[in-house]
Amino acid sequence: MNEHGTAAVIGGGIAGMAAAYELRKAGFTVTVFESRDRVGGRIWTIRKGDFLMDLGTAVYLGTYRDAIAMIHEVGLTHEFVETAAVMGLPRDGVMHHLDLTKLVRAGLTTRAISPMGKLKATRLVADVVRNRKGLGYDTYDELAKIDTETVTEYGRRALNAELLEYLAQPLVSGTWVADANETSVALLHWTVRNMLVSHVYNLTSGVAGLPEHVSTLVDTRLEHRVVNVTNDNTSVSVTYESPGAGQHTETFDACVIATTAEPALEMYPQMDDNHRGLYETNRYRRLGSIVIGFSERPRDSATFCLIPGKDDPDTISIVADHNKAPGRAPEGKGLITVLLAHEYLDRTDHLPDADILDRAVESVKRYYGGLPGEVEEHAVVRWAESVPAIGKGRFRRIADFRRHIDPTPRVQFASDMDRIPGLNGALVSGKEAAARVSAQFSRRVKATA
Ligand SMILES: Cc1cc2nc3c(=O)[nH]c(=O)nc-3n(C[C@H](O)[C@H](O)[C@H](O)COP(=O)(O)OP(=O)(O)OC[C@H]3O[C@@H](n4cnc5c(N)ncnc54)[C@H](O)[C@@H]3O)c2cc1C
Repeated sequence: MNEHGTAAVIGGGIAGMAAAYELRKAGFTVTVFESRDRVGGRIWTIRKGDFLMDLGTAVYLGTYRDAIAMIHEVGLTHEFVETAAVMGLPRDGVMHHLDLTKLVRAGLTTRAISPMGKLKATRLVADVVRNRKGLGYDTYDELAKIDTETVTEYGRRALNAELLEYLAQPLVSGTWVADANETSVALLHWTVRNMLVSHVYNLTSGVAGLPEHVSTLVDTRLEHRVVNVTNDNTSVSVTYESPGAGQHTETFDACVIATTAEPALEMYPQMDDNHRGLYETNRYRRLGSIVIGFSERPRDSATFCLIPGKDDPDTISIVADHNKAPGRAPEGKGLITVLLAHEYLDRTDHLPDADILDRAVESVKRYYGGLPGEVEEHAVVRWAESVPAIGKGRFRRIADFRRHIDPTPRVQFASDMDRIPGLNGALVSGKEAAARVSAQFSRRVKATA
């Protein structure tokens, strides 16, 4: 190992870029290999006409402490914007608004839930309060203990049909693309504690501003698809393909593989059983992200709406981008993201994007009481992999996996599969992988001194 160490990071999503940033801070010379022509992975911001569109992750939440800390640390404070959050919840043709800065009052006064439902909801609140210490970002043993039933089983046992249909199901579906019939109740409790937050945050350049900025600090090679990683215990060889340049192999002191499950399994046949067990059993939820720029701005105050499956099984949530952060649409124009369900995408593989757009426009009409003017711009993305499914028992597997992570190999892994999924989880995973690599380096440098 040379004095400063060289490290390859494979995958330029937020897990990889966080790992790259931390390794650079620790003194490594870092090279990021990214197969796409952009960094960010499932974080993707584009400009189309007058509109700034987040096609993947929509916001930074107030509980994303590590992501927010990194935004400030890398020097993006001047781009950081904060917006008070209002949640829309439709029921029987009426959109109810809950001001999340006054969550208790909003919960007590909303007409989206009946008085009996509110009484029953005290049970959910009590369960969340009782388990609150275990509902963090690093509490997998505690999450494993309450990972004993699905959201539907819990809803039927502890709540009632109304709360299951109009609260529990839309909460896990609208935030995690999750199926309540499969999803662990631990994720519901975690979501109530961590995702019903008073404010959402963003960057004026879009959610992708963070990974894009980090990519300017390290050697980032776009359109470099890694096909093999080999660890011979003295170095790591990385073989990649790039357009027009064919296949090449370079050698590094260490490597972090920060891709989704399938490419990681393919590129690294030496993957240990602990990771293999987690990656091979991971299932992603599909998600349609349809972003539409309108010539007029609707008056509706909601930042986002969670759509109960009973109301519309195809749409899981709607984000009013023009409300979530300044500068997404010009004054007077609207920008709306309609998120379409996994099951809907499964049924519509054969349809062209134009039909998917029409379906999203139908949802806008329905939940905004008509179209806000003309459609000026749009983007349709059918994500095959949005968020890992957290079925019943998954937290128990994750807790077991985490107890068996071996920090000694030169090849480490980062992703949103080994924890609470999402942007912040992936970023922390990247930081932890970098810390394991840095610790090995310090030990080896000391041993050879
Ligand atoms: C529409 C949508 C909305 C979302 N909304 C939210 C939200 O609001 N809040 C939230 O917290 N999370 C949200 N998520 C989830 C969040 O985006 C992910 O959990 C997170 O970004 C995962 O980051 P990652 O780095 O682990 O993976 P990825 O972002 O998937 O990054 C992996 C990278 O590896 C690259 N790669 C793959 N194979 C190779 C190879 N062979 N060689 C080189 N590179 C390779 C890929 O191109 C990709 O860039 C959303 C996701 C989607 C799709």
